[in-house]
Formats: sequence, C-alpha cells, structure tokens
Amino acid sequence: MEILDGKKAALFYKNKIAAEVIKMKEKGMKAPHLAAILIGNNGASETYVAAKVKACEEVGFHSSLIRFQDTVTEKELLDKIHEINNNEDIDGYIVQLPLPNHIAENKVINAINPKKDVDGFHPENTGRMVKNLPCYIAATPFGILKLMQYYNLESTGKHCVVLGRSNIVGSPISILMARDGNPGNCTVTLCHSKTQNLKEITLQADILIVALGKPEFITGNMVKEGVVVIDVGLTRVVNESKKSGFELKGDVLFEEVSSKCSFITPVPGGVGPMTIVALLENTLKAARKEIY
Ligand code: NAP
Repeated sequence: MEILDGKKAALFYKNKIAAEVIKMKEKGMKAPHLAAILIGNNGASETYVAAKVKACEEVGFHSSLIRFQDTVTEKELLDKIHEINNNEDIDGYIVQLPLPNHIAENKVINAINPKKDVDGFHPENTGRMVKNLPCYIAATPFGILKLMQYYNLESTGKHCVVLGRSNIVGSPISILMARDGNPGNCTVTLCHSKTQNLKEITLQADILIVALGKPEFITGNMVKEGVVVIDVGLTRVVNESKKSGFELKGDVLFEEVSSKCSFITPVPGGVGPMTIVALLENTLKAARKEIY
C-alpha cells in the first residue's frame, strides 16, 4: 500500500507555480492576485480561507481577504461581487461556502464573473467542463486529477466508483473520470443516498472516490484488494482529548481499508492540500488570461 501524499504533491506543484510567478515578475508583469470573501465565523471556513491565504504567500501571489458578518444582506454581498468583477487588479476570487441561510447560493455564484471564477462553480465553467472546453475546473476535482497525475496512476479502462453527487465534488469528478483524458477513460458509476446495494458496487471499484461527509463510512469489507481510494471527506468530529476539541475524519475507515489498497489518500494531508494547489493554478491561469 502506498500513501497518496497530498502535502508532498502540493509542494511540488507550488514550487512550479512560484517559479512561474518569478518569471512573470521578471517580465514586468504583476503577481497573480486572489481574493476571498468570507462570511461569518464558521470555524472550518476560517481554517480553509487561512490556508488559501497562506498558500498565496508561499507562491508569491497577492491575496485579499474580504470579511462580512453573517448578518450581511444579499444585496451588500452582490454589490461587493460586482465591485470585484470590475476591479482589474483582482485576477480571481472565491466566495467561501457555505453561505448564511438568508443568502441564495445560486444568485451569488451566478453573479461571479466566469473569467474570475477560480473555484469553477459558475454555470459557464461547469458547462465548459462538461463539454471539455477550456475552463476553470472546480478546485477539489482538479486537485484529485493533479494528485493522480503526480503519482502516475493509470485509470484507462478502470471502473471508477464515485460516492456523492454534489456540484463541487462528486458530479464534476464523475464527468472528468469518464472523459477521454489522462486521468480519465474510466467506466464510472456515480452513487448517492438513494443508491441500492452500495456495497456490491463499491466492491467492484478499481478506483473509489468518496465524497459523502460521513466519517469512516467506508469499511474494509466494502472494497476489493488493490483498489485506489481517494477520500475527499473532511468532517470535524468531537474529541475532548485534542487541544482544538475536535479531530478531522475522512469518509473512509483508514485502519481497515488501507491494508487492502494499492494507493490511498490520508485525511488530513490528502485531497485538502491538492484543492488549494488547484485553486492557485486556476488563479495563475486567470492572471495569464489562459482560459478566457
Ligand atoms: P454534500 O454536498 O453534502 O454531498 C454529499 C453527497 O453524499 C450527496 O450526494 C449525498 O447524496 C451523498 N450521500 C450521503 N449519504 C449517503 C449514503 N449513505 N450513501 C450514498 N451517498 C450518500 O457534500 P460535499 O460538499 O460533496 O462534501 C463531501 C465531503 O467532502 C465533506 O466531508 C466535505 O467536507 C468534504 N470536502 C473536502 C474538500 C477538501 O478539499 N478536502 C473539498 C470539498 C468537500 P444525495 O445527493 O442523495 O443527498
């Protein structure tokens, strides 16, 4: 069994991005600029945004953090989005999800200029992804592809089983793994909460991508020998013995499943760091106007 070390792969890609930024500056261009809008004080969102800002510093990007209280109105948020859309200094930006209940997520995502949509959530980018046109691929599926590339994992002709059909992970990765590409060329089965006989399906997986948000849901008897497991799940589970009061759990029971795997991502340190690298890469593309 080999660990798919997201931290190691992320460092490799960050070094490449940092070298590109140096070249851009040498040519007199400005450094790429990523902005993040963060609403409220959700602990997990705070952590994710802080990690994104830190990663920007590491590769020489500019970053801006724009904060709102969770009492912000939808109009105030949309006004800020329009302002950023027209701010030429900002190449790409993200609106950290989830949003407070009184704000319509779709309205916010649709208001983002697709050219600056480095999270790849706007319908224009999703549509382009489906049609295999140049686009910003959503950061988590893009990060998974980059991790597979880093480890030279062969996917052609394999059966890839994806658990979860969210717009940000399960649905896009199922499309990407099925398309004619590398990684790709898989036969894909997409499962969700209404799927029957889930275990029969997971047992057929050569590549199992799990994005449920259900800690340790996948147990050893649900996978076959030699499977490649990509665990996207990241849930804070209360643990009084930890200083923070919680620990991060994936969707896979690592202790049981890992011994049957050829490759497996750890949690944390697997898909998480790759999601951030993918966001950086999208921002670099935005700064160079490579997509639009
Ligand atoms: P989500 O929007 O909550 O979607 C969960 C999916 O799991 C849904 O499609 C749901 O099916 C399906 N599901 C739930 N219970 C199931 C069951 N018993 N059997 C089969 N399918 C089931 O989640 P998400 O946003 O994709 O996130 C999933 C996990 O990945 C979370 O832990 C999240 O924190 C993590 N995540 C990590 C990163 C990272 O960078 N590491 C990035 C994004 C997300 P229905 O559609 O039928 O309800």
